[in-house]
Amino acid sequence: MTELAEVVATSELKIYEGFDDMGLPEELLRGIYGYGFEKPSAIQSKGICPIKDGHDVLAQAQSGTGKTGTFVIGSLSRVDPTLKRVQVLVLVPVRELAQQIEGVAKALSAHMGVQVYSATGGTPLRDDIKAIERGCQFLVGTPGRIYDLMSRNIISNEYIRSLIFDEADQMLEDRFKEQVMCILQRGFPKDTKVALFSATMDTDVLEVANMILHDPVKILVNPENVPLDGIKQYYVPLDSEDWKYEVLCDLYQQLNINQALIYCNKRQRAEWLAEKMTAAGFPLSVIHGEMDVEERKRRMKDFRDGAVRVMISTDMLARGIDVQQVSLVINYELPNVKENYIHRIGRAGRFGRKGVTINLISKDETRARNEIQDHFKIMMQELPSDISKLDM
Ligand code: ADP
Ligand code: MG
Repeated sequence: MTELAEVVATSELKIYEGFDDMGLPEELLRGIYGYGFEKPSAIQSKGICPIKDGHDVLAQAQSGTGKTGTFVIGSLSRVDPTLKRVQVLVLVPVRELAQQIEGVAKALSAHMGVQVYSATGGTPLRDDIKAIERGCQFLVGTPGRIYDLMSRNIISNEYIRSLIFDEADQMLEDRFKEQVMCILQRGFPKDTKVALFSATMDTDVLEVANMILHDPVKILVNPENVPLDGIKQYYVPLDSEDWKYEVLCDLYQQLNINQALIYCNKRQRAEWLAEKMTAAGFPLSVIHGEMDVEERKRRMKDFRDGAVRVMISTDMLARGIDVQQVSLVINYELPNVKENYIHRIGRAGRFGRKGVTINLISKDETRARNEIQDHFKIMMQELPSDISKLDM
């Protein structure tokens, strides 16, 4: 990405070809292989050891390339299993992502005897308090709830050795920035190391990053080529917004999909679309941030299990969510925040799989489309009339 041109990746970064070569604890290695990872991905081969060796880290790598494994493995290697205190704190923007990371960390640490827990808003505080007092060592959470727990002195920062921000650019701007700053102002010991991860970083964020990080190791994987190569991007030009619905129904019938995500910008639009499509006999589900927590959990589970194949969502699920069977992302509307285009389409094509994005573009969105193309240096092709041959 152009903004990153001024960030120079740390040269002479050692690349580890195998997990075996990284000097990781035996129990952690067993967890890694047991989880099915055989070889480190590009970001893992560069990024695990700087975390393990106690450096601050700034890392950017494309969607679906294994950033979670990088910071989970790196930070787990610094955990002392006998010390029943929070030693790793991972901050993320949404509950669904916190739970996903909790699952990965549990699996990777399965043989270490490390207690992993996620704390997010909307659930009883006492559950979190209990889990943390029981000796949670690896904690994932959203900023509001984590700050709450800190100000009640439930979480002590004293033993935190790794503080990680996933989706760091989002965490350091807008509505999260203030909460994150409050968390940082609570103070951390000198040997708390900080790591920032994201698929996108812009200049503003880099400025904040420079304030937070001390002499960080900078890792950039394919910075000049942020969008994924494996994802084909198409658009359907439409005279009017009103035609999108029919085109979508058409696509639903013609495409032979595994699983798909459809993005709308607003909750109301997402619900409207879900109702209309369900009534027309196209089974799907919908999820957004104003939904009851339990309901969100249920719907997410159905989608992860494959019981629901098509999910309509807002940008709440634009980032981080990893469902390997998702091969198609449809933008019913282009996102208002440019970066989210990259995050949305990255929900397909996980870990080198193929994926397709179809953007429904009304006349009014032509300019937004051009802006996205220019900004990310990508080309969307017009969707061919015979879509049965699309490679998904
Ligand atoms: P990112 O955060 O970079 O978008 P994730 O960490 O969510 O990507 O990983 C994407 C997918 O790749 C996940 O399903 C994960 O299990 C898988 N994956 C990550 N690392 C490896 C690896 N070394 N070997 C096999 N699969 C991996
Ligand atoms: Mg991620």
